[in-house]
Amino acid sequence: MSVPEEPKVRTDPASLAVRERAAAEGISTIWDRYQALTPQCRLGELGICCTICHLGPCNLGRPGTKRGQVGVCGATVDTIVARRLARDMAAGVAAHSDHGRAVAHLLLLAARDEAPGYEIRDELKLRALAAELGVASDGRPARAVAEDVALACLAQFGQQEGEVVFARRAPEAQQETWRKLGIFPRGIDREVVDVMHRTNMGTDADYKNLILAGIRASLADGWGGSMIATDLQDVLFGTPKPLRAQINLGVLRPDAVNLVIHGHEPLLAEAVVAAAADPELLALAREYGAETINVCGICCTANEVLMRRGVPVAGNFLQQELALITGAVDAMVVDVQCIMPGLVEVAACFHTEILTTSPKARIPGVTHLEFHEDNAPVAARALVRGGGGGNPPPAATGPGSRSPTTRWTRWPGSPPRSSTGSWAAPTAAPTGR
Ligand code: SF4
Repeated sequence: MSVPEEPKVRTDPASLAVRERAAAEGISTIWDRYQALTPQCRLGELGICCTICHLGPCNLGRPGTKRGQVGVCGATVDTIVARRLARDMAAGVAAHSDHGRAVAHLLLLAARDEAPGYEIRDELKLRALAAELGVASDGRPARAVAEDVALACLAQFGQQEGEVVFARRAPEAQQETWRKLGIFPRGIDREVVDVMHRTNMGTDADYKNLILAGIRASLADGWGGSMIATDLQDVLFGTPKPLRAQINLGVLRPDAVNLVIHGHEPLLAEAVVAAAADPELLALAREYGAETINVCGICCTANEVLMRRGVPVAGNFLQQELALITGAVDAMVVDVQCIMPGLVEVAACFHTEILTTSPKARIPGVTHLEFHEDNAPVAARALVRGGGGGNPPPAATGPGSRSPTTRWTRWPGSPPRSSTGSWAAPTAAPTGR
């Protein structure tokens, strides 16, 4: 293991201290894995290795070398680089916009009273969005408006013609530029499919045209999917206001059950934060020698619950393994995106339980407790209580005395541990996942 020697890589003292611990204990982290793969593939770095069809992979020669500069099909360096970049853009659009789809779907369920635990917290914003989307609002109950707003937002994903509605929030001159270039986004999913189609073998070979298509898809996310996510989250969870909170690894407490929520979406995290305040679970935590249940965040999920609930942030993407290496994390609940599979090996060095919750993001060897919007309070409570089963309570514990045997996640009565754990049958078949 390499001890961090270059402050330029990370200067945060808390992270450096934990990296030193990792090095001393032989725990491999992202920096070690990167080092092990250095130097990385030069062709990959330049984007001149094409695997789009099975005539390849076509590893083109680097500029200035004698190796061929076109693929088997005749695609040039410019074409191959542009195709790869456009596909990267489309993948990012798909991920971020799918977040927006999930929020719109949750609003639909909440409006139909099929998502217990969720409610409309910002009715003013809901009605403002209704006006923007052309949904009738005057004199109608909030739930009816919410249902139509959710349906209008979901329709933005499959829209085939016209313009993504929220893109009209951009300055008029900017919109005109997009129209002139033919990159005003039409529908969110449509632009992702468009990029995947045109980048396929033997389709678009014009690098400028390819990049413009990638930009159109990106606009569909920025002014479509991601904007839907932001606005509807405000409707469901409240519009954030400035608040004070704490960040960095020091938010993990020696005297508490530390539950880290990690990923990108606040749908589950909001429910987990609520469940962690359950008096019965707090009493159980005290029974086990902890003062309280300390919910912390990592990565974008952290930001979501930080800005609305003041939940402390234990770290960013690069600190996810470091949080575990503090030895203080009892469980890490993850949803989607930015979750390193390497967490599993790190967690195995400690008492930490990793719990996956999304059907889109499972990791081999990790307990999977699937979350669906129609049973969020039950699911969140089970996640807070833990996914393990059957270990007796640990020996006497107190502030600073918790050890790797203090398994928050192994309370008697917890659901049996398995790779496909569950706590209760959903009240209806989950949809939209
Ligand atoms: S699309 Fe062309 S460059 Fe790419 S793998 Fe196929 S043959 Fe090679």
